Amino acid sequence: MDVRGQDRAVALLLRYLETGNVPPGLLFFGEEGIGKEMAASAFVSALFCRNRGTAGGCGTCHDCRLHASGSHPNFLRVSPEKQNILIDDIRALQDELSLKAFSDRPRAVLIAPADRMTIQAANALLKTLEEPPPGTHLFLVAHRISRLPPTIVSRCQKISFSPLTPGEVEEILAGIPGIGSRYRPEEIRGAAACSGGSPGRALEVLEEAGGEREKWVQLLSSPDPAAITETAASWKGAADLSRKLAAPLSVVRDIALLSSGTEMGIINEDLKTALRAAAGRKTPEGWGRAFKALLSMSRMPPQAQKQLMVEAFLFEFHRKG
Ligand SMILES: [Zn+2]
Repeated sequence: MDVRGQDRAVALLLRYLETGNVPPGLLFFGEEGIGKEMAASAFVSALFCRNRGTAGGCGTCHDCRLHASGSHPNFLRVSPEKQNILIDDIRALQDELSLKAFSDRPRAVLIAPADRMTIQAANALLKTLEEPPPGTHLFLVAHRISRLPPTIVSRCQKISFSPLTPGEVEEILAGIPGIGSRYRPEEIRGAAACSGGSPGRALEVLEEAGGEREKWVQLLSSPDPAAITETAASWKGAADLSRKLAAPLSVVRDIALLSSGTEMGIINEDLKTALRAAAGRKTPEGWGRAFKALLSMSRMPPQAQKQLMVEAFLFEFHRKG
């Protein structure tokens, strides 16, 4: 089972396989994009495999190949069709589980993201979690465990997934076919540094960040009310705040480093001249405060007034020393 940066979770899963005590309900939780579903899928493959080794499924037997192609008959997946997983989705699953399995292998149900079940859907699932049909295992994948009802959480064995280090994220990104040729190494490093340890998010940042870094260097270099207002407008209704903050965070972090006289660990190497020019606008403490202000924005709730927030930040930034 090869899931980078999740050694603890993988070790726990391998122990279940080794002892033969695979719990009927497993809850994989942690940040989005750090390998929970990948681990669940590898674990399911190991359950199906007929030549299982100490590291999981063999990858070459009939069942491993069926699962890899997404067509193993004993694998069921429940995901939201639109916003949420609904009670009807859970009922359809229960109907399916009440029928005889197609293959003699164990049955595996993946519910992802499980934290998008409505409360009615979650209540309906309780019965199945309490008394799953023989040989059936349920895998719940949740980005935010706090959104799941405690009754669901308490009926599952919990497997926690941790964010990766920026270095690990960078390595994973660089290893993805096509990424190395489409993006410069410093862009990949930048995305990794502000991904919160999630390769999945780093990929999104990479795809969205084009031109954003340059724009932010400009915004911080000289007060231009029109540009500030225009930028703030583009934040209105932004669905993912951490994605919007990726570029300003990486730029301000670099400037703060440069202004305190160090060049070690600069992410945006390609913009260094412009960053150095901007650094003179504030004291190192002033840059440190700006960085903290941006960081605190990243912890704002999704319904926060993003447009006002970023506008206030920029005007305040230029007003103060
Ligand atoms: Zn196999």
